[in-house]
Amino acid sequence: MTASIAEFTKEPKIAYFSMEIGVRSDMPTYSGGLGVLAGDTIKSAADLNLPLVAVTILTKKGYFKQELDIYGRQTELPDEWDPNNFMTQLKEKVSVFIEDREVYISAWLYVVESMRGTKVPIIFLDTDLPENAPEDRGITHYLYGGDQAYRLKQEIVLGIGGTRMLDELGFEIKKYHMNEGHSALLTLELLKKYKRDIEEVWDERLVWDEEKVRSLCVFTTHTPVAAGHDKFPYDLVQKIMCNIIPINVIQELAGREHLNMTMLALNLSNYINGVAKKHGEVSKGMFPGYEIHAITNGVHSFTWTCDSMKRLYDKYLPGWANEPEIFVRVGRIPDDELWEAHMEAKRHLIDYVNRETQTGMNYDTLTIGFARRATAYKRADLLFTDIDRLAYIGEGRLQIIYAGKAHPRDESGKQLIQRIFEIKEKLKDKIKIAFLKNYNMELALKLVSGVDVWLNTPLRPLEASGTSGMKATHNGVPNFSVLDGWWIEGWIEGFTGWAIGPLPDVPADPARDADDLYYKLETVIIPTFYNDKHTWIRIMQNAIGKNAYYFNSHRMMRRYVTEAYIR
Ligand SMILES: *Cc1c(COP(=O)(O)O)cnc(C)c1O
Repeated sequence: MTASIAEFTKEPKIAYFSMEIGVRSDMPTYSGGLGVLAGDTIKSAADLNLPLVAVTILTKKGYFKQELDIYGRQTELPDEWDPNNFMTQLKEKVSVFIEDREVYISAWLYVVESMRGTKVPIIFLDTDLPENAPEDRGITHYLYGGDQAYRLKQEIVLGIGGTRMLDELGFEIKKYHMNEGHSALLTLELLKKYKRDIEEVWDERLVWDEEKVRSLCVFTTHTPVAAGHDKFPYDLVQKIMCNIIPINVIQELAGREHLNMTMLALNLSNYINGVAKKHGEVSKGMFPGYEIHAITNGVHSFTWTCDSMKRLYDKYLPGWANEPEIFVRVGRIPDDELWEAHMEAKRHLIDYVNRETQTGMNYDTLTIGFARRATAYKRADLLFTDIDRLAYIGEGRLQIIYAGKAHPRDESGKQLIQRIFEIKEKLKDKIKIAFLKNYNMELALKLVSGVDVWLNTPLRPLEASGTSGMKATHNGVPNFSVLDGWWIEGWIEGFTGWAIGPLPDVPADPARDADDLYYKLETVIIPTFYNDKHTWIRIMQNAIGKNAYYFNSHRMMRRYVTEAYIR
């Protein structure tokens, strides 16, 4: 594959920085929602012909390949892939200083092309070069691998190296958009770049043109979980980062105690947003004194619609992929054809599950899907709060499909997977449960399109947005979810899907969540599915016409353009 950078540097661009970008399943440069969102953002930018260039790290050994034994114990293997199959290595190189060594960075060019031929380049940064010391060659190998020092080195390569690379390649950048705080060191490089050239100043700080840098930067924060915000102790920073900007200046912008990447990004951006309305509010509480907006996430409609649904939309809603607003006319699709397209996706999934796990699932049983990162707050086991009650409600009427990876150091996340395996054994004569390993984008599409109900049970308010439920809606699959993140905005009870637990303005109550989950399954969801197909298909239509209509990345990108990029 050959591509040239020259066609992309003719007009000024928005630079979109993200530690992970998921554009396709066979390029494991993502771990979950953040990376998939970045990929969807870039695809919509390409479709809408927006002037954007994306920057990330290459992660040649991926996140990890998940192995599970019969007890659901997870082990991790490298997920190696060959960039040469997808992208072109450019000749330009830049360097950064890490632990007083000069570390060279190379760039790979991947091109995302829309169906109309409009393109967005992604620059993948790579330190695996012969001129680098052996320890530095691995800096860009593993996504979220290693210790704090490893992470800081990656963030130097991404933020500082990435900014230098854009200059080296000849890009003129109008805005720098930081997708989460990992890339916030780019603000330090910009401070250096726009340093005021004044000889004598009464206050040394005046040489740093913070206002200029702020006018160039946009920051999207993604997590209400405190541990999700990178913080580095200053002794580590001094040892590894060397002196790009005096440490006292950094401390003023990024915190006295630690270099807090979120603080740095907050202080040097003039547009800051959370990823759903509720998350914007939660972020305001976490970071008082900052003006924080909200742009609710969306997913890339064409990517997240399965083949049978695509054919149906092409027939009745032509133009839908580039104009998801057309979903408003979903009522034109005949009920039987909508149901048949869904059943085609369901058969495809059930066949896959039976092949992979020998569970013996069938096509006609109400099938619930739950797939996401296996981590404590997502509560994959909420459904197992009362196993007898679940068995009573669901015997012969329910089957459940799970998937998800736990971060290699997330012990409680790993235990969640083992718990699912344990219950799967226990209930196997009453409710068929399957766990599919190696959750990735390809499997995600199979799942969100092939199940009947998409379940989400996060502990509020920890789900910033959530996007897999939006993918489900693109396939006419209704959500059954705790009122957190995007679902607060998408939920109309019994119409687009169902809520679990209390209204958003009432304090969280985990015990009530489980009770409500069982109650609605038993009294509403199961009876409607088996006894009232007409109503069920109305709900499927509303998932498309009211949720997919809005929760797509085309709408999201139009808002980033008008609210964040052009101001
Ligand atoms: C969409 C997606 C996610 C994010 O889903 P959430 O609902 O936000 O947790 C994670 N992993 C993969 C592979 C996905 O496709």
